[in-house]
Amino acid sequence: MKFDIVTIFPKMVEGPLEEGIVARAIASGLLDVRVRDLRDFTTDRHRVVDDAPFGGGPGMVLKPEPLFAAVEAIRTERGDPGAIVLTSPDGERLTHRVAERLSALDHVVILCGRYEGVDERVREHLATEAISIGDYVVSGGELPALVIVDAVARLVPGVVGDESSVAGDTFARDGLLDFPQYTRPAEFRGLAVPDVLLSGHHAAIERWRREQALARTRRHRPDLLNVNKE
Ligand code: SAH
Repeated sequence: MKFDIVTIFPKMVEGPLEEGIVARAIASGLLDVRVRDLRDFTTDRHRVVDDAPFGGGPGMVLKPEPLFAAVEAIRTERGDPGAIVLTSPDGERLTHRVAERLSALDHVVILCGRYEGVDERVREHLATEAISIGDYVVSGGELPALVIVDAVARLVPGVVGDESSVAGDTFARDGLLDFPQYTRPAEFRGLAVPDVLLSGHHAAIERWRREQALARTRRHRPDLLNVNKE
């Protein structure tokens, strides 16, 4: 699967891609992630990417020309992407379902906003969708882009070594939260691991985990149970 991430802070994106599961998937060729410096797509001497908002007000807005030029260059080099995602706090909320939908595409471009945001013509006429990572504002689209790439990449077959691990994750398995996990020691500062996990009875362990997942979902995220009934 191919990703192109367009940003004014390439280093902020490249660092996290050099560690962990995503890095391994890039090394093995399952993922091909390119980080593009938005300033490379400017045409003026000062490589300006932003300007003051029409109508006044604080801050700066990312100009449309470099973003359109970046996507056109990506298209020429790598073909038509399946989605052009604008990171935006007012976009569709990133959920497991959205990650699944994107993981079925073979090429996704992600545009990182900065400052007060991005010229609306980018959203209307360049991006095919806008995605938010939650109801709060961060300072730029770089962290959201990394969250999107990571969540989507985990769902690409082969990226996570043991696929049953992804299938059992929170939100994936029947839309329930994950069951609690324990490891050695069996007793730590007087705190014991539930007996059933040490019993070796696989059916009993399965039943316990299922009950725990349900109970946790009911307690912490009852809204997930309602969604599943719809
Ligand atoms: N003034 C804007 C916020 C701009 S934050 C507003 O109130 O909506 C600057 C950039 O950070 C945004 O253009 C977007 O690309 C990114 N960003 C901030 N919060 C985000 C979120 N929750 N999800 C996705 N992107 C976000």
